[in-house]
Amino acid sequence: MTIAPGIIKFFRTRLHSWHTGHNSRQLPWKGEKDPYRIWLSEIILQQTRALQGLPYYESFTGTYPTVQALAAAADEDVFRLWQGLGYYNRCKNMLATARYIATELGGHFPRTHEGILALKGVGPYTAAAISSFAYGLPHAVVDGNVYRVLSRFLGIDTPFDTTAGKHQFATAAQLLLDETDSAAHNQAIMDLGATICTPAAPRCADCPLHSKCFAAAKDMTALLPVRSKKIVVKERFFNYIFLLHDGKVWIEKRGAGDIWESLHQPYLAETEKAVDVSVLRQDVLFDNKSIRPHELTDAGMAKQRLTHQLIHCRFYIMHLTDMPMPNGTAGMWLSISELKKLAFPKILVSFLRNNLYF
Ligand code: SF4
Repeated sequence: MTIAPGIIKFFRTRLHSWHTGHNSRQLPWKGEKDPYRIWLSEIILQQTRALQGLPYYESFTGTYPTVQALAAAADEDVFRLWQGLGYYNRCKNMLATARYIATELGGHFPRTHEGILALKGVGPYTAAAISSFAYGLPHAVVDGNVYRVLSRFLGIDTPFDTTAGKHQFATAAQLLLDETDSAAHNQAIMDLGATICTPAAPRCADCPLHSKCFAAAKDMTALLPVRSKKIVVKERFFNYIFLLHDGKVWIEKRGAGDIWESLHQPYLAETEKAVDVSVLRQDVLFDNKSIRPHELTDAGMAKQRLTHQLIHCRFYIMHLTDMPMPNGTAGMWLSISELKKLAFPKILVSFLRNNLYF
């Protein structure tokens, strides 16, 4: 791929002057040079909006000011701090990487792009962000904002979620990168995508790239960028049953190989479709003789959308006269105060807060 030198110069100059004169997007990690704090912010912001990630960034940097402090933390404490952000693999990888840096690299963050890219949970985008923001290395970031700005400005209609598209956008971003100040350039293009070249109703009249923008000239902003695949969303039906006895709740840890690994939950009966309480009691719990025949109280429902799954949750409460362990599971009976030390999926945190004085 080639881009005319005049277009490259125009892009760099206009972006730079917009960034220094008009970019008012304020985020606490902007201008940060500490690779640990940049890395934390980037891991938190993967699949999370900046405003949602902000309090988490402040909690993590406040609680664990150095990579050594994070590496020394107990898993459960870190999961608990992460609670509500979702995509818990990010948290697991983050902990593994902190411990790797603390023990294998003497607590020093890698200083090369290759070294950063080799860290667990760090992909090309995060490696380019850390490399440029912390060390000024000439690597262009390519995230959703960059796909949007570049596809519209250059008129690239190759789907960005294909191998060819990823390569084309990465090449274009690298060609346009102002290597004399890669940190400012990378920050500027992402901020432009977040505030001006937005997915719906981009503010082209306020955009520094407007006079040479392909999509603005052809009235194609609604058509670019192009995505090839529709995300297939699987629906799942979780019936959560809070088994209560003498002020204690039965809780288990979720296993590997599914969403929310290592988080906690009450007794779960997953069904292939939504079922009402009579079906749940008769058919689903029938095999679990240890927790029959107590009454189930319907305690409401909620939904949580993940990237590829839509989880329909129904909550039930069942007061038991004794403390059996539901068949085939390895849970424990815990007091409400003990529950507060554990990490739960977001949807359960809301329920616990509202119903069990969590
Ligand atoms: S002119 Fe409009 S479409 Fe083009 S880059 Fe700017 S905001 Fe995006």
